[in-house]
Amino acid sequence: MNSSPPLSGAAVYADVIVARPARGLDRPFTYRVPPALQPHVVAGAVVEVPFRGGSLVGYVIDLHADAPSSLAEDAIRDVLQVRSPREFWGEDLLGAAGWMQYYYGCLMVEALNAIIPEPVRAGLWRKRPARGAPARTRVVALTDNGPDPEPLLRALDGDGPQARRVLDALRRHGHLPASELLNLAHARTETIHHLRDAGLVKYRMVAPDQLSAWHDPLKGTSALGSTERPDLTPAQREAVDRILALRAQGKAAAVLLHGVTGSGKTEVYLRVLEAVTEAGGTAVVLVPEISLTPQAVHRYRTRLGEKVAVLHSGLTDAERHEQWWSLRRGGMAVALGARSCVFAPFDRPSVLVVDEEHDSSYKQDSSPRYHARQVAIRRALQGNGVVVLGSATPSLESYHWAREGRYHLLELGERVEGRPLPEVEIVDLRRFGRGRPVALGAVLRERMREALAAGGQVMLLMNRRGFSSYLMCTDCGHMERCPRCDISLTVHAAPECLRCHYCLFEKGHMAVCPGCTGVSLQYFGSGTQRVEEELLGAFPGISLARMDADTTRRPGDHLRLLEKFGRGEIQVLLGTQMIAKGHDFPGVTLVGVVLADTALNLPDFRAAERTFSLLVQVSGRAGRGARPGRVVVQTYNPDNPAVLLAARQDYKAFFDLELGHRRELSYPPFVHLVNVVFASEDEAAAQAAAHSLAAGILPEARALGAGWLGPAPCAIPRLHRKYRWHLTFKANKVQEIVPLIRKFLAAGIPAGVAVTIDADPMSML
Ligand SMILES: [Zn+2]
Ligand SMILES: [Zn+2]
Repeated sequence: MNSSPPLSGAAVYADVIVARPARGLDRPFTYRVPPALQPHVVAGAVVEVPFRGGSLVGYVIDLHADAPSSLAEDAIRDVLQVRSPREFWGEDLLGAAGWMQYYYGCLMVEALNAIIPEPVRAGLWRKRPARGAPARTRVVALTDNGPDPEPLLRALDGDGPQARRVLDALRRHGHLPASELLNLAHARTETIHHLRDAGLVKYRMVAPDQLSAWHDPLKGTSALGSTERPDLTPAQREAVDRILALRAQGKAAAVLLHGVTGSGKTEVYLRVLEAVTEAGGTAVVLVPEISLTPQAVHRYRTRLGEKVAVLHSGLTDAERHEQWWSLRRGGMAVALGARSCVFAPFDRPSVLVVDEEHDSSYKQDSSPRYHARQVAIRRALQGNGVVVLGSATPSLESYHWAREGRYHLLELGERVEGRPLPEVEIVDLRRFGRGRPVALGAVLRERMREALAAGGQVMLLMNRRGFSSYLMCTDCGHMERCPRCDISLTVHAAPECLRCHYCLFEKGHMAVCPGCTGVSLQYFGSGTQRVEEELLGAFPGISLARMDADTTRRPGDHLRLLEKFGRGEIQVLLGTQMIAKGHDFPGVTLVGVVLADTALNLPDFRAAERTFSLLVQVSGRAGRGARPGRVVVQTYNPDNPAVLLAARQDYKAFFDLELGHRRELSYPPFVHLVNVVFASEDEAAAQAAAHSLAAGILPEARALGAGWLGPAPCAIPRLHRKYRWHLTFKANKVQEIVPLIRKFLAAGIPAGVAVTIDADPMSML
């Protein structure tokens, strides 16, 4: 890879990836760079090139002095125009893109598009962008003779406090870029729109030089949070020192920071970031989207100052554009954001933090199907950075690699200030038995009554609504599993059967429980909505909010709910696994898990790991303040090791046990899975395409020592009117299987069949 400017005068050739996603075009095309354009064409530039009868925009990925020997000189055409002479990425990002194409089987243009956010790209794709004029920033300002805000603030009701903070911030600072204002005031864009519609604020465009004169987003923010640096525990101190020592060596390294909930992992990141940025380095911090609360953002900004840029889905296109360029221009030292922030446009960041590294939201579910943790590791390898993976419940893969010595393992075994871990009670629902599933058992009701009477807050975890149902015995907790794959069998109505969606194993419906010979087998899967009704019946008059996919459709909805809960305006928060993540609410003294079994029954080889992690994480929400916390877990499987070990917060015992199963059944981390899904409105076509891939590449796959499961219908057999079949490979190396699949697909896929390749899938539904 040569990204240095070529010698002027000599012929220069550019390898260009054209911006048209098609398997047949997934390779670089070579163009000649005319002498006049040579000073502007660097690796990472965006150019316009002739393509067939027309022209296309493309990314320059490499420059060289020699024409490729495979092409005649007169067959090479000239670059037409330079759309952007700036480098859009450094070498470490270009390296990561190349790796994504190879590893995830995506198109190179998809990988490069992932690196440059859509709002930034859109400006380049338009013909003849304005050159020379510096980009102006949209700011929000108070209007000169605005009306009395009080009637509006009252009318906004629950959003009134947000609007009040927006106005306060503007009174203190004059005008502010919209993104700064949203962060500073913990507000949503909509709130600003309400204020604008009421004539209280206005938008203005200002040039960058006007911006810097008053740009001090942290002025006067102490009211929003504390800037104190808590004393480090000895374990935190050691973790910080070891990470900085690795950084000082200047070589790529990966650290797994395993700390129990409440052990102060964030403080470790903050100290590392302080040291790194003071030394002139840059850092990327990834948190799950749901954890990117105003409180979390504020904590980083208070401690690290205005050099923190925030990238999240709540920003408008203009704000994302502005934040991205502020990073690329080099004015910022830290990029904080969710999954896609892993592509923050720093050159070779010194440190990359992946908080809650086990979280499945780091895996993108459309092409390129990358895992942000893996990309972060790749960037560190390319740029000699240090990756810090943090979690109370590390993914089995990460802990395994740490044990094997690939990652440095650092442990924080105790909560800060010596706070005890919460006391967990497992409630055996079987004794409520005789076939009638219970939502709120007597113990949970009693504990709720106690917590609420003492002024505490309650979080109740209900499981996500079932996408498919499962069969479980309410007398003994028995669940039917595939004898070959050890995953839960899914109930199918037509034809009536129980089916393994990995390997197609099938058996008929049963009336008698194989576990206890009783007749209390019940269908589970959905119906958790009635928890809300039961709650309101049992606790009339409590303030209750439900947080799930239905109540958080709009961006910012979940943040608003969490904010209300944080202010104590809600006594009971009932939610899906969304509520389990990373939040810190000192008022919570009770956490209840309504039915642990739904997670255990997910038809996924990670069901036990997910259950363990979910229970530990949600339990960790209790007792983070001065008052100790309690946890109640209701289950029909009180002896299940994932449940028992989660109650004891014994990660290592769970890890050893689960790793044994994974080894026995050849699941990750002992193999890599590559899942290929075929979707079509014509079921026979989807099935035939899956079988043709099997017939086409299984002999070669077998020769490489790979195994496979299927072809079989997916656990969600029909989605968006398309029938879905899949074939799952178990390979020693992704890099051996993916090229075989790509080669097969490049030869042609039947019309009307969509194919997706998912390497290291986090979900195979
Ligand atoms: Zn039974
Ligand atoms: Zn099976």
